[in-house]
Amino acid sequence: MSKFEWQRAIIKVGSALIAPDGSQCSGRYLLPIARFITASREQGKEVIIVSSGSVAAGRSRVKINHQPSIAEKQAMAAIGQTKMMANWSRFFDFPCAQLLLTYSDLHSRTRYVNIKNTLRELLNNQALPIINENDTVAVNELKVGDNDNLGAYTALIAQADTLIICSDVDGLFDADPRLNPNAQLIKQVDNIDESIFALAGGSSSKVGTGGMQTKLQAAQKCSNSGIQTLIVNGQKGEVFDQLMDGEVAGTLFKAVASRDNARGQWLKHTLKNTGKVSIDSGAKAAILNKGASLLPSGILDISGDFKSGDAVQIEYNGHALAKGLTIYSSSDLEQIKGLRSSKIEETLGYSFGEAIVHRDDMVLL
Ligand code: GLU
Repeated sequence: MSKFEWQRAIIKVGSALIAPDGSQCSGRYLLPIARFITASREQGKEVIIVSSGSVAAGRSRVKINHQPSIAEKQAMAAIGQTKMMANWSRFFDFPCAQLLLTYSDLHSRTRYVNIKNTLRELLNNQALPIINENDTVAVNELKVGDNDNLGAYTALIAQADTLIICSDVDGLFDADPRLNPNAQLIKQVDNIDESIFALAGGSSSKVGTGGMQTKLQAAQKCSNSGIQTLIVNGQKGEVFDQLMDGEVAGTLFKAVASRDNARGQWLKHTLKNTGKVSIDSGAKAAILNKGASLLPSGILDISGDFKSGDAVQIEYNGHALAKGLTIYSSSDLEQIKGLRSSKIEETLGYSFGEAIVHRDDMVLL
């Protein structure tokens, strides 16, 4: 078994553990997880739960005799969410705190900072944050869609070092264990590449929305940001005794990068580019080799319609080099591109400073 160490973890608990029969909440699998959380906190470690199960928990309370519509599923989620929270609360004598998030919350700079600050206060006050997607307001393109990826985003926001995905499978196998009796559990993955994704089929759980694919996506997001990911079988109580001993009873995905600063992670993974800025070789060298900010003099061309504070891609010769928050809008940049910084005020009639993208707001790709 691989060994692991951690200090702050996101524990993602899937619907198959919260509502194993797919229609109501059950405490059956939660006791060992809750004991692990309580014991870990007593050792000074910090835990945030990302819990699925609201739709499954509310399913029996919405009358349907067909495949549920989106609105019916949202009604199930609204009913089931309180049941799911109540189900967790009974295992702890410290407060559980509910956070319901959507994809757009993770993409808004102010909301992102609010989420981060709230999580920090909750942890400072010994509460246990329990996060789920806000299923009632988010549909399709507004959704993260699955809680594996939501777990990864949460790990990034909370600057956790570990994501533990508790599922109903033992981990990642080298073949489908339901079809191939000789399938072997992969104990450790050092690099999540195409060959690893090829091992994952579609969604296997009848209850949740994720599958091995979304778990690997989550592991990859985390790994690239310096966060290790574990996939363990949350239906097996002994798994959590092993985790207490620092042993991964499942698959460990090692972190490949060191942990970026929180701003860099947010920039890289959650913020969508609204435009492109192409730069000359001098600016490229300054950004890559000197850790410099982007100045107007190095800008050759811009595309897209963006405002101050939006994320833009910085390109050289059509290749993406970096991503960052622009201080000037696209219409400002049209006027000041190629100019010395000292000409900004004269040209625009105002200046927000000499940099177009400050180094602190830039992440190299
Ligand atoms: N947010 C969904 C729910 O609470 C779960 C999504 C998932 O299982 O990945 O039912």
